[in-house]
Amino acid sequence: MQYRRLGHSGLPLSVLSLGTWATFGKSVGRSLARNMLALAWDRGVNFFDSAETYGNGVAEALMGDVLADLRFPRDSWCVSSKVFFGAQDHPRPTQRGLSRKHVIEACEQALQRLRVDYLDLYFCHRPDPDTPVAETVAAMDFLVRQGKVLYWGTSEWPAEGIREAFRVARENHLTAPTMEQPQYNLLHRERVELEYAPLYEDYGLGTTTWSPLASGLLSGKYDGGVPADSRLAQPDYAWLHDKVLGERGEQVAKVRRLRPLADELGCSTAQLAIAWCLANPHVSTVMLGASRTEQLEHNLAALDVLPRLDEAMRQRVAQAVA
Ligand code: NDP
Repeated sequence: MQYRRLGHSGLPLSVLSLGTWATFGKSVGRSLARNMLALAWDRGVNFFDSAETYGNGVAEALMGDVLADLRFPRDSWCVSSKVFFGAQDHPRPTQRGLSRKHVIEACEQALQRLRVDYLDLYFCHRPDPDTPVAETVAAMDFLVRQGKVLYWGTSEWPAEGIREAFRVARENHLTAPTMEQPQYNLLHRERVELEYAPLYEDYGLGTTTWSPLASGLLSGKYDGGVPADSRLAQPDYAWLHDKVLGERGEQVAKVRRLRPLADELGCSTAQLAIAWCLANPHVSTVMLGASRTEQLEHNLAALDVLPRLDEAMRQRVAQAVA
């Protein structure tokens, strides 16, 4: 495993980490979750990502149960939660959003589900147009000062919103955000590469990036249709189908064009796609998702591809899917 500091903070995160969306508590039950966390740990992964909304808290409870069972020393791994969407199908107004009330209560609830005394990373899962940014920054600062959160950040905030959070924090001597959690993969690049570009220099922003395989698409698994045991076949994720494959399946054709390049590198398209994300130095950690232990094992081996992915090859890869 390799480790990178989370932006300009001192926190070293494994460059590959493990997320729980759409898997833990869904396709991944307790024994599989235990195997996956044990494998990840064994390979040096030190960051596990979750959110209040994943399975309405079930993913966090499962991860907390397994981490307690595995008894890895608490000072050797990091866990995250995210607040905004709520942990109910139909949250009441105070059970969602980024008000001081919900940010603080959601943190308490995540601590209980995850069975930890503090969250290493805590994210505002989306911007909240109904809450002043200053209120959210103050709530995060309060949690940091209480020792309940070590690093806080945003997820899918526009650059302007992130700038405002930094400005408010600096002007009021409050704890500024450390990281953003954006989608980043070969088919979704603009925000990380262009919109956020000035933020890395100006604020030392770190990134924990999501969906390196675009929900599995970049593994090539959707080449011949939608396999019955895949994410896009799950009724809960019907809304993702066109988003991921394109209305006429045009995204699938792009992935086919990656095959010869992966062959040249002696790896799979999944490993190529993950290594390609890792090659961006502004990515602090690439969060993997897996519904089986074999997928996780396979994806972790993307690290071996990284040294073979020089600048010329990175450009050919990007052109292949452009
Ligand atoms: P990916 O894009 O890597 O998709 C993972 C899924 O792809 C797996 O669950 C599996 O689904 C399939 N897959 C993975 N590896 C392989 C393989 N080698 N061969 C074939 N299929 C494979 O990542 P996620 O979309 O899961 O995102 C990763 C993490 O990022 C999440 O767990 C979550 O923690 C975080 N996230 C954050 C968001 C945010 O808004 N902040 C939004 C989304 C995710 P299957 O087998 O079921 O087809």
